[in-house]
Amino acid sequence: MSVSDRDPRTGQPYPTSLSEEEWRSRLTDAEYEVLRMAGTERPFTGEYTDDHTEGVYSCRACGAELFRSDAKFDSHCGWPSFFTPLAGDAVVEIEDRSLGMTRTEVRCASCGSHLGHVFAGEGYETPTDLRYCINSVSLRRT
Ligand SMILES: [Zn+2]
Repeated sequence: MSVSDRDPRTGQPYPTSLSEEEWRSRLTDAEYEVLRMAGTERPFTGEYTDDHTEGVYSCRACGAELFRSDAKFDSHCGWPSFFTPLAGDAVVEIEDRSLGMTRTEVRCASCGSHLGHVFAGEGYETPTDLRYCINSVSLRRT
């Protein structure tokens, strides 16, 4: 499944809107598979899963700032987990009915690239009880 180049909230193209050829030349195969094809990296393999370095996590496709290390927590789920994005409008949340489940997909609000999913009410002792379960390959920490 390829991600859309239009923001479902407005029907307008995302601020950063590139052709598939441009995305392919800009991203590695692994990045393209997750960011543009809504794939998922294998659990416990991503470079940021257990990382506690302070910093800001930006979209690896377009560079928009998405999450901060102070909202990152140990969920032990195998992917980097955050309890909130750095700003509410940094990401777009979309109902995802693939794989026979109803989940909430998280995309970059600036370019529409796939980041991961968000889960609510799992009982984590965080301020929001939300788990933004994000692929490492979708992020770059600076
Ligand atoms: Zn982006």
